[in-house]
This record gives sequence, C-alpha cells and structure tokens, in this order.
Amino acid sequence: MDIRKFVRPNIRSLKAYHAEEIPCKVKVDANESPYSAISNQQSAISLEKTLQALNRYPDPEAKVFRRLIAKDLHVKPENILHGNGSDELIYYVITTFGGPVLYPVPAFSMYGIISQALNEKKIGIPLDDNFDLDMGKMLGAMKQHRPKLIFLSSPNNPTGNCFSTGKILEIIKRASSVRHQSLVVVDEAYQPFSGKNEFLPMMDKFNNLVVMRTLSKIGLAGLRLGFLIAGEEIINEVNKVRLPFNVNALSQAVAIMALKNKNPVRANIASVISQREALRTALDNIDGITPYPSDANFILFSVAGADRIYGRLLRKGVLVRNMSGVIRDCLRVTVGTPEENKIFLKALKDILRH
Ligand SMILES: *Cc1c(COP(=O)(O)O)cnc(C)c1O
Repeated sequence: MDIRKFVRPNIRSLKAYHAEEIPCKVKVDANESPYSAISNQQSAISLEKTLQALNRYPDPEAKVFRRLIAKDLHVKPENILHGNGSDELIYYVITTFGGPVLYPVPAFSMYGIISQALNEKKIGIPLDDNFDLDMGKMLGAMKQHRPKLIFLSSPNNPTGNCFSTGKILEIIKRASSVRHQSLVVVDEAYQPFSGKNEFLPMMDKFNNLVVMRTLSKIGLAGLRLGFLIAGEEIINEVNKVRLPFNVNALSQAVAIMALKNKNPVRANIASVISQREALRTALDNIDGITPYPSDANFILFSVAGADRIYGRLLRKGVLVRNMSGVIRDCLRVTVGTPEENKIFLKALKDILRH
C-alpha cells in the first residue's frame, strides 16, 4: 500500500524536525549552556539510589520536583505541571484547548509544528521593525481569528529581545475579555537571562495566563524538563492529557539535585550574562556586523551573505544557527565559554577580512 497517502494530510505535509548532528569544535547553535549545572561528585553520590530503583516506574506526579519549583516561585505545587521539556507541554496545551493558535513570527518553531501535527489552524503575525509585538496586527488577528491559544515567547527566540511588558499585558487583558476568550502562554524559556519576572505575579489576576519555563537553557538541556505555571483549573485540564510517566526517574533525580544546590546554575547564568555583553560589544566593533540587543543567552546578528558566512564558519569548526531563511541575512550565536566566544569571534573576523 501507499503509506504516504495513508497518512493524515496534515502529517503528510509536515517535515520531521531537523536535528542533524553536525560535527564541530565550537557548538554555539542551540542555545544550550556551555556549562553543566551539576558537579561530578554531587552526581555520583546522589544517583546511586535512583539507579538501583530503575526497575520501578518514576513518580508520575513528580511531586518532589514540583514542590521545589513551587517553593522557589511562591506558588502551590498544584500550580505546576511537569513536561518532558517545554516542547511536550506545548503539545499538551494545544491538545487540551485546540486552536486556532496565534503567535508572532519569527518565533520558536514548535508552536507551528505542533499545531500542524494536531491539525489545528495556526496564525503567525509578523513582528514590527524593532522585533516587538505589532499591536495593530495582533489585536486585529485576535478579533478576526478568535484564537483559543496565543503563544508569546519573551525573551523571544530567535530575536533575543523581550517584548514590551505593556503590550503583553494588553494582549492578556484583551484575551481575558468575554468577547475574546483566549489563553495566553508566555513562554519564558530564557527568563533567567533577562532577570525580569513580570507575569508570574499576574497569575492571580488573570485566569487565562499560563507561564512556561524550562531547565534546558540553564545547563540541563539533556534532562528534558520543562514546567507550566498556571491556575489550578488550567493545570487540572492539561494534566488529563499528560502521559503518566512523562518525566523519567533519572531526570527527576538530577533536577531535584540541581534545585537543592543552585550554586552551579546561578554561577552559569551570571557568567553567560556577562559574556553576552562582552560578545555583543565585540560583534558591534566588527565592520559589517550588526548585533541585536539580547535578553537571552544568544545573540542574533546580521551580516551580508549570511549563508556563505555560515558555511565558512562551519569549515573553521564553529557551528552557529543560520536564521537567514527566517530573517534576511541573520545568524544566531549562542553565548559560549570565554574561550569559545574568542574562537568564534576570531573565525568571523578572519572570514570577513578575506
Ligand atoms: C528552547 C526553547 C524551548 C524548548 O525548551 P525544552 O524545554 O528544551 O523543550 C521552548 N521555548 C523556546 C522559546 C525555546 O527557545
């Protein structure tokens, strides 16, 4: 039989997420932390018990993890839902509430991919010239399409900036009105690097607000652990579609370890923020490079002939993310260690000189 024709049409036209492993010396393409959030001695001792208990299923409710997160954020464990990365939570939220799904573009690609996989209508609304929300277009689209879900990632990937607080707030307010009725998911994957915490405190006031965070960008991408923070009503509904054992025992154990001793994570974040500023200044001083302001752990920059520059950087062993398909002549570089940043900058300068 013809399997391609057998597949649902929305899946047939979907492309599998491109996660090719490109060999390189300096990997600054995926917004990972250059440092691990766990020390060696710490891990060897604490993991022994978990390894001995791997014959058992993990805690389906991730109780300890959720309790520790809740305590940090001054909410109740009932306000937290754990996911196998925030990717999985995006899947669950769209599964629970359905579309249309509205989001500004360029944005994190998973909002669109998951909407299509679940056969929900998706609407991407272009950002303004400052990569901020275009309120005329956003409010117009809310009126026209009546989205059930609005995703706003702030700081935004791949542009790096936070959207204006007032604009996000305006969207949450409009979305909570009887006429509109949308849930707003503020995706704060990069929140630790912006230091801003403006939307969690608004949870009490707006029951249509969901905040999403992750351990991925602060040194634990390999764990696959994200979490939603929302009112209990929302958490209870989304929890119905969660697979029972979605976060495995090793990930829970390591996350708990990292949450009990936050020093490595805190040091990582501080180092990435200071390196980000140094990297931006250095990029700004290179003729032909325009870096954009960043509140995240990466920097978007424009350079003439970005496709070619991307290839030449790779040949020198430096892997960045080529964004030129999304934003003309733009590349995205993750903040690395001081050594990695130096190698990247030298390679870039060499390329531009010849
Ligand atoms: C990286 C990223 C995520 C995905 O996080 P995981 O927890 O690793 O699934 C979510 N949203 C944005 C905007 C991201 O850049």
